[in-house]
Amino acid sequence: MEEKTAAAAEAENSEKKGLNFVEQIVYDDLKAGKNGGRLNTRFPPEPNGYLHIGHAKAICMDFGVAEKFGGTCNLRFDDTNPVKEDVEYVDAIRDDIHWLGFDWGDREYYASDYFPKLYDLAIRLIKEGKAYVDDQTSEQIAAQKGTPTTPGQESPYRNRSVEENLDLFQRMNAGEFDEGSRVLRAKLDMASDNMHFRDPIMYRIIKTPHHRTGTKWKVYPMYDFAHGQSDYFEGVTHSICTLEFVPHRPLYDRFIDEIADESYRPRQIEFNRLNLTYTVMSKRKLLALVKEGLVNGWDDPRMPTVCGLRRRGFTPAAVRNFINTIGYTKYEALNSVSLLEHAVRDDLNKIATRAMAVINPVKVVITNYPEGQVETVQMDNNPEQEDAGTHSMPFSREIYIERDDFMEEPPKKFFRLAPGKEVRLKGAYIIKCENVVKDADGNITQIECTYDPESHSGAPGAARKVKGTLHWVSAAHAVDAEVRLYDRLFNVENPAAETERDFREMLNPDSLKVVTGVKVEPFIAENAKRGTKFQFQRIGYFTPDYDSTPEHLVFNRTIQLKDTWEKVQNKG
Ligand code: ATP
Ligand code: MG
Repeated sequence: MEEKTAAAAEAENSEKKGLNFVEQIVYDDLKAGKNGGRLNTRFPPEPNGYLHIGHAKAICMDFGVAEKFGGTCNLRFDDTNPVKEDVEYVDAIRDDIHWLGFDWGDREYYASDYFPKLYDLAIRLIKEGKAYVDDQTSEQIAAQKGTPTTPGQESPYRNRSVEENLDLFQRMNAGEFDEGSRVLRAKLDMASDNMHFRDPIMYRIIKTPHHRTGTKWKVYPMYDFAHGQSDYFEGVTHSICTLEFVPHRPLYDRFIDEIADESYRPRQIEFNRLNLTYTVMSKRKLLALVKEGLVNGWDDPRMPTVCGLRRRGFTPAAVRNFINTIGYTKYEALNSVSLLEHAVRDDLNKIATRAMAVINPVKVVITNYPEGQVETVQMDNNPEQEDAGTHSMPFSREIYIERDDFMEEPPKKFFRLAPGKEVRLKGAYIIKCENVVKDADGNITQIECTYDPESHSGAPGAARKVKGTLHWVSAAHAVDAEVRLYDRLFNVENPAAETERDFREMLNPDSLKVVTGVKVEPFIAENAKRGTKFQFQRIGYFTPDYDSTPEHLVFNRTIQLKDTWEKVQNKG
């Protein structure tokens, strides 16, 4: 008997080993048969902005844990403040969650669905002497709040009669009073150690129409009076949120006590939020960037929004892998954006189609190659995949290479093109620089080379080797394109920590560089459909921007091939 228990304990231990602390709690609750063995989480965005990568972390948790243990996850819009909320955000939030790879089925809810129930509960609490209408201004209420070490002061309206409270609250909702003139407060404990218990506000007056309920309501519940109860009404068992809600938890439980019986109760669990270096995550700041035109909209590829990352060319797999890597803990941390970028490179390396583009072209004329002749060379689409196949690329007498790949007076270890030196053109021949043509100002306008006809990389008996290999495109066949090169939006590691400076001052002035006159191989132009991921060989990962058209190709650089920032930082 004893042996069996030990074995069972061991099995349980090994099952729990790979789980994060939230999953372990869920595991234990399910094992203990709590809530009838049900698991139901929720993701509760307020539709007052677009989702960012921090929300993605919460989404991966809320939907992920439900998936892992066969439960369900609700999408609940926390629409309790009509002043800042909009359907535009509701639609965007849905799209973003789907893009991340999660689905809520028919479990789409709104806190506003519960306004009638919450109102009834408020009425009940007033009748039971547990809530009162306070006629003071928010400044007066704040001034009486006390500090964590000194108790607060009771409001002079705290001991109003039930009748008066009922009458006033109903009239608040009928629109008889101005915004800010009265609130409904819970009568808890002005001396509580927990500041959230010092008669928290339950309802405030707002007269802005609501995007779903119109002008029906003039009073709106505060977060603390809406969230826990909404969880309860929905049957949520595990209400997972971020650490700043730890001090709210006793109040969450206190309001649940008013409505729950023994058969079921939701439980709040908190994890550390995602903070990224060189990034701001506050919705207020992101909204300011958009509204003030400091970026080009919520989906500007420099934004940490989910739609921005998507437009930039990040993949859902990369975002999820990154979140997996950083994990979930009980401690606040600042995560390096390099880790996210690493995850993006890692995924794009596996899936991106290799192709050639020359960002800063200089023309090369191969003088001994027959004029008018065109050859087709085969290029691997992706050496990381077994059956990615190849595509053809035209080769001819005039090609473009990167200006940076040529130096007239190269240093010793320069294995690219230089006078008298040889390089291989990837997938094609070895060329040798014979002459340089310059304009009146001394700028190189053309490089003249000869090629070795026996040196084709696909030739039988394998061609001879040279040190450098360059990417190139055939001049006559290349298509013009624009590329947008992105860098970090902020040039300060932790903008949120610089409380003395306005975050706008920390914007990186070089976060977007637009380059035109880029030459891409025809294959890229033919496949420049939204969502396609390319690796421009030796340069980086690129994807067509939403602005791209067949007449005017535009590509976003998702990420460089290597982390150049790390290098700069190591040097510096
Ligand atoms: P607000 O200041 O408007 O409340 P918010 O970022 O909390 O902003 P919500 O829409 O309320 O926005 O967030 C929805 C959920 O996402 C919440 O459960 C919240 O805890 C979680 N969340 C928000 N930011 C992060 C973050 N940086 N890391 C992890 N989770 C986050
Ligand atoms: Mg919030």
